[in-house]
Amino acid sequence: MTATTTASRETLGFQTEVKQLLQLMIHSLYSNREIFLRELVSNASDACDKLRFEALHNDALYENDSEMNIRVSYDKDARTLTIADSGIGMSRDEVIANLGTIAKSGTREFFGKLSGDQQKDANLIGQFGVGFYSAFIVADKVSVFTRRAGEKADQGVRWESDGGGEFSIEMVERATRGTEITLHLREDQDDLLAGYKLREIIKKYSNHIMQPILMKKEEWKENKYETLDEDETVNQASALWTRSKNEISEEQYQEFYKHVGHDFDDPLAWTHARVEGRQEYTQLLYIPSRAPFDLYDRNTRHGIKLYVRRVFIMDDAEQLMPSYMRFVRGVVDSADLPLNVSREILQESKDIEAIRKGCTGKVLGLLADMAENDKEKFAKFWGEFGKVLKEGVGEDFANKDKIAALLRFASTQADTTDETVALKDYIARMKDGQEKIYYVTADSFNAAKNSPHLEVFRKKGIEVLLLSDRVDEWVVSNLPEFDGKQLVSVAKGGLDLGALEDAAEKQEQEKQADELKGLTDKIKTSLADRVKEVRITHRLTDSPACLVADEHDMSGNLARLMKASGQKMPNMQPILEINPKHPVVLRLQNAEARFDDWAAVLFDQALLAEGGQLDDPAGFVKRINQLMLEMSV
Ligand code: ADP
Repeated sequence: MTATTTASRETLGFQTEVKQLLQLMIHSLYSNREIFLRELVSNASDACDKLRFEALHNDALYENDSEMNIRVSYDKDARTLTIADSGIGMSRDEVIANLGTIAKSGTREFFGKLSGDQQKDANLIGQFGVGFYSAFIVADKVSVFTRRAGEKADQGVRWESDGGGEFSIEMVERATRGTEITLHLREDQDDLLAGYKLREIIKKYSNHIMQPILMKKEEWKENKYETLDEDETVNQASALWTRSKNEISEEQYQEFYKHVGHDFDDPLAWTHARVEGRQEYTQLLYIPSRAPFDLYDRNTRHGIKLYVRRVFIMDDAEQLMPSYMRFVRGVVDSADLPLNVSREILQESKDIEAIRKGCTGKVLGLLADMAENDKEKFAKFWGEFGKVLKEGVGEDFANKDKIAALLRFASTQADTTDETVALKDYIARMKDGQEKIYYVTADSFNAAKNSPHLEVFRKKGIEVLLLSDRVDEWVVSNLPEFDGKQLVSVAKGGLDLGALEDAAEKQEQEKQADELKGLTDKIKTSLADRVKEVRITHRLTDSPACLVADEHDMSGNLARLMKASGQKMPNMQPILEINPKHPVVLRLQNAEARFDDWAAVLFDQALLAEGGQLDDPAGFVKRINQLMLEMSV
């Protein structure tokens, strides 16, 4: 594609994803059609913010007119609606990139998730964000007429499309900077061609927009509205976050969120505060009600907009929030930072560090309050963002205890992922004599739940946390204790139940260990370099054997996770523990022939039971078949 500056008109095709998005949008958002205006006004407002920011370094961009506004008008005869702004505008290349493709991160995930079921997909599209293309919900043709600020008049661009597969683009004259978007309404959209209707929609969705949204005044005369040649401002036109809390309604907070968060749904919660002291700033931070598609994308945008004294400075200011709070959206408006602050400066700034600390504390406070006072809401939060918050245990040392208090885990108490427990509540219901918090890690919930390591705990009714998120290994390695209670893996080290075992049990165990010493030694010799040690265990009731990691070794699950992610692993040998009461073990005691096969099967099944993979699956199958043949039926 050459960026010609001639007046020739070109027709180009949309990126495939845009075509799909347009189809989906038109069909699934119809019942919510009014949001198109919110989206276009939101873009217009962003364009004004960008101009104000760029003009800080280059005053010429204002072209002698620094007034910034958004204008909404309609033409009943032509059946068109126009949204115009005096913002930054777009060059030809920008128009092609912005209005012909989708450059959002998470695009691939989004399109991968579409089911074809319109109702379900309609929900997804809200999460993805709709933006400019939502114009096609109400229009069957859209024209964009724009010029980038600071360019010559002949650098105007006209873009046009009927929302099919293509758009046309041509260079045209445009005297003023900014963008004008004209919607040619669909047949059944005539109700939008009325001043009161448009005012109502603007007030409902865009009242919080900082720039004035202007419309021509209208007067009721002789049974119809007459348009006067005089503008009026339809919205409140002030920065919402600068107003005091009691002047802002729930709805206004929610609509503002949709603008800053580029989200379609209401937020789950928010915190709004003016902070005074060494640093003076205002923060309005939101927790979305749903995780975005790009939550795990390393290049993901961080949702905080930075303003300095109400001048927009930058989107996605990642320095304002720690990575484990990358789901937070909102605005920080500093009274102290210089207007020419750059990303590089932000990285080193002590002031920013103080703001980040303050913002992090506010969000943690909001979450703690939610966990205490609105458990249902907190459960929703946890379901969407819990895995991300868990990263904070290792990332944010200063707030580790506060984060740990927010953690929720599945456990053997309910045996389902729907019902989770906080560490505080786990401790409150610990058995008499229990001193430790027990957990098991595995790479799936089912593997955790059915782990042989849990057998004795289930028998004794001791609750064990079931950890199956990848990040859980990271959590437990950074959280040796909570509230003075040690966190202990049930698959690591020797089993020490402390006071949970009585003296008679302990004695019996020692006796059995002595009696079976010959057997454990023989198995160790047979398995040679596959195991570090073979010993008797009392953690098993139903299974003949299990593997455990040595006290200071990496757990089997973590070793597998690291191997799967391509990391070089030292060869760590597990300890094979056998159940002295199991008939298979007792039989092994007397086995002479094929002892090596028996021992190998014992080891392999223990590995399988904890979700591991066999080195030699074919050998395992062969041995099993051989043993089945020899079975006396
Ligand atoms: P989003 O706003 O989520 O990035 P959109 O599809 O709404 O997605 O817009 C795509 C891009 O087009 C915007 O990021 C912006 O760069 C550009 N754009 C849209 N509307 C305008 C406008 N009125 N003025 C200048 N640029 C605009």
